[in-house]
Amino acid sequence: MEGSNETCVYKNPDAPVEARVKDLLSRMTLPEKIGQMTQIERIVTTHPVITDYFIGSVLNGGGSWPFEDAKTSDWADMIDGYQNAALASRLGIPIIYGIDAVHGNNNVYGATIFPHNIGLGATRDADLVRRIGAATALEVRACGAHWAFAPCVAALRDPRWGRSYESYSEDTDIICELSSLVSGLQGEPPKEHPNGYPFLAGRNNVVACAKHFVGDGGTEGGVNEGNTIVSYEELEKVHLAPYLNCLAQGVSTVMASYSSWNGSKLHSNYFLLTELLKQKLGFKGFIISDWEALERLSEPFGSNYRNCVKISVNAGVDMVMVPFKYEQFIKDLTDLVESGEVTMSRIDDAVERILRVKFVAGLFEHPLTDRSLLSTVGCKEHRELARESVRKSLVLLKNGKSSEKPFLPLDRNAKKILVTGTHADDLGYQCGGWTKAWFGLSGRITIGTTLLDAIKEVVGEKTEVIYEKTPSEETLASSQGFSYAIVAVGETPYAETLGDNLELTIPLNGNDIVTAVAEKIPTLVVLFSGRPVVLEQPVLEKTEALVAAWLPGTEGQGMSDVIFGDFDFEGKLPLSWLRHVDQLPLTADHPNSYDPLFPLGFGLNYKSGENSKPV
Ligand code: BGC
Repeated sequence: MEGSNETCVYKNPDAPVEARVKDLLSRMTLPEKIGQMTQIERIVTTHPVITDYFIGSVLNGGGSWPFEDAKTSDWADMIDGYQNAALASRLGIPIIYGIDAVHGNNNVYGATIFPHNIGLGATRDADLVRRIGAATALEVRACGAHWAFAPCVAALRDPRWGRSYESYSEDTDIICELSSLVSGLQGEPPKEHPNGYPFLAGRNNVVACAKHFVGDGGTEGGVNEGNTIVSYEELEKVHLAPYLNCLAQGVSTVMASYSSWNGSKLHSNYFLLTELLKQKLGFKGFIISDWEALERLSEPFGSNYRNCVKISVNAGVDMVMVPFKYEQFIKDLTDLVESGEVTMSRIDDAVERILRVKFVAGLFEHPLTDRSLLSTVGCKEHRELARESVRKSLVLLKNGKSSEKPFLPLDRNAKKILVTGTHADDLGYQCGGWTKAWFGLSGRITIGTTLLDAIKEVVGEKTEVIYEKTPSEETLASSQGFSYAIVAVGETPYAETLGDNLELTIPLNGNDIVTAVAEKIPTLVVLFSGRPVVLEQPVLEKTEALVAAWLPGTEGQGMSDVIFGDFDFEGKLPLSWLRHVDQLPLTADHPNSYDPLFPLGFGLNYKSGENSKPV
């Protein structure tokens, strides 16, 4: 390691950040600079790779695979090991380790899993979202990571998009408010904090990442990684606005979007990345590419990688989520600098930005995990917060077949009740994608409470709860014996393109299961989905009550709290619920979008006494 504390400004914690950045940059060789711009996947990471290539960042893409059953302390050991390898390099520049903690620290077994963003959009509660950010930061820090690739501030224009549930809303104002997650993750900057300058309050916080810049939720047909065809004015008003809120909170990083704007890929767009975000809006943190996004600039996939590197870095991408072929990336970028196709000043600008975030984040002073945080993972307070979030996110769409007779709240002392449906007792389904695995899983994937568990906890001792995943003929034939049925159906987990769904149907015969039960037994439907799905007419007509539960996460009691009446419903639809897909896309001037099944903002509750809406 070079120099002593007295000689190196960059090692002096009392020196101003900008002076430390300049000092360190002046000591760096080209390989060290390019190393800082390189983010590699944990799967290909070894200690020598980090030390020898001066790697700036490691990530854990998607879920935890193949690390599923690791304890939080195993994660911390692993990440600290990588960190020590980075500290052993010539200048001892720490790595920044990033993970997709998009609804809690969803990679780690036993962590608190909060509702996905679409459910939080239904709460419209900026303070709640900020508190979720703060809790998530602790659970992320406990596992040794420093950076969460969140929040996704996409404005959702078409629910056929497979990432709909990562968005808070179709309404830009709601997204702007709920960008408060940034202040939760990073801590709240003081009033005088300069707009666009990165911020981190302390060791209990993590670096946030506003994504995916910009227009990811506006692609034509809701196609993931597609093309957003809008004027600059609309881009600014609908899609860019939430980034201004993030910049005001000192968001430290921004992830570029796979998508295109009017045919131009974001990763190649100098105007949006450099002129707009960095120069006009004054963003002083760094831009991270998306996963393997550079390859996607060329057809066929990655055919001229060197050219993709050139285009992206010159457009303004500062750190590249390579994530595997780091040798190729480093070789190509070195070559591009040597040939003058990428200038040294562009490299210096990128590295300055990365170092700035690392200094601001305190990584030079505190590179290793604070093990006292381990007890925060899945702790009682965080689970209570998640339960509150679930409660506030549920939207009551229908309550009773007629206006005189509300069906909810349910009687917890009923004699015999039927709980059924594919989603009633499946924690994995309840959590959705980005939980333990990128595409999500089924079953008891972590610690938590399913809807069935929660119901069993609250019903009276004498109440008989019959559970059947699929309602049997026998059971339905003896329907008279049941006071009511709770049927849980919905979407099965997915992520990104895997979730693009042209028809928005309910899988696993969801509509049929509901109809079969509702024909025989008074029925409440609890619908788990990352977006509005098409509800068939018999479902709308035959059921007594309908609740949209979104993808609520591990705390199922948040649902029983409300359906049994201990708390009122507060959730309001964060997007219009369409009758059928022909009504898409959601644009103000689309003639059909004026007749949704339930409009944006719809949501019944007990106190108003209103219990139905003609469908
Ligand atoms: C997603 C990003 C994510 C990244 C790392 C990409 O496929 O688009 O949202 O942060 O993977 O897992």
